[in-house]
Amino acid sequence: MGIADPTIMNSVNKTFTHSQQHPKLAMTVAVSLENVYKIYNQVPVVDNLSFDIAAGEMFGLLGPNGAGKSTTIRMLTTLTKPTQGNVEVCGYDVIRQRMQVKQCIGVVLQQISVDGDLTVWENMELHGRLHHIPNPQRQRLINQWLDYVELTTKRNDLVKTLSGGMKRRLQIARALLHQPQILFLDEPTVGLDPQTRRRLWEIIKDLNKQGMTMLLTTHYMEEVEYLCDRIGIMDNGKLISLGTLQQLRSTHGEGLVIKQVGDRWEYLFFPTLGEANNYLDTLQDKTGIMVRPSNLEDIFVELTGRQLD
Ligand code: ADP
Repeated sequence: MGIADPTIMNSVNKTFTHSQQHPKLAMTVAVSLENVYKIYNQVPVVDNLSFDIAAGEMFGLLGPNGAGKSTTIRMLTTLTKPTQGNVEVCGYDVIRQRMQVKQCIGVVLQQISVDGDLTVWENMELHGRLHHIPNPQRQRLINQWLDYVELTTKRNDLVKTLSGGMKRRLQIARALLHQPQILFLDEPTVGLDPQTRRRLWEIIKDLNKQGMTMLLTTHYMEEVEYLCDRIGIMDNGKLISLGTLQQLRSTHGEGLVIKQVGDRWEYLFFPTLGEANNYLDTLQDKTGIMVRPSNLEDIFVELTGRQLD
């Protein structure tokens, strides 16, 4: 099954220069944000954001509610214009070359859902026609992607009769129909049961293995740990951390001491697990204290604060 369209691939010819790139990644920029702002009512909800995503990379964008993740995805997918700064997708400018950008991206957003009153096939057919994919290629691609997400037997069912996981798989199949280079997934597994979530992970991972560049947002840390090559953490519209999981762990501390203080827990980061254990050894009273390797959730909470919504 071919995803990559060489004609589009050739248009992506900027060199990937970010110092925190993942070693396995190709050296081509698929997505680039340079000093990007989105200002609503004089408030920058995206505030001087700069980062690149390499072709073939799986990039995870994390952040608490209101951090600016959806606004960022909306700018990258041409749904809203940046107030200031440069945004390029597949080498095209999101404002001046909007149509070319739309042609090279697939989008699975929370808000853009499939039409429940149409059948599975009708949803695919409509999307295919909107993208001017001629027949018989259109029918071939519809069959191919429905088969890929295991919805062939449901093709004549009304979408409103499908389970949440099936609807999400249909959204993905539809987003892939016009053979995009980059797939944007906004919380792709939210509200799904663990089995369905894992099935979607397999699909996402497989697409990435075939060369698809992906940006996904999620609140599930294990999703990012399992899927993503690099992680960007946003808070208050700013990128506050960027790197591979290993880079984030070595920057923020690989060893963690968790101490119970009254009815709260105190988290102390140490460069290594050994140093965390050495600290524990110095304590006379070790009651209510735990030492373990840090994980992404520890780092996320440390960086974005412990206050609740
Ligand atoms: P996230 O996806 O990280 O939860 P959003 O990008 O949805 O964050 O929102 C970031 C901030 O921008 C929030 O404070 C939100 O209220 C504000 N915001 C988003 N869209 C609009 C809009 N159209 N008008 C005004 N404020 C907005």
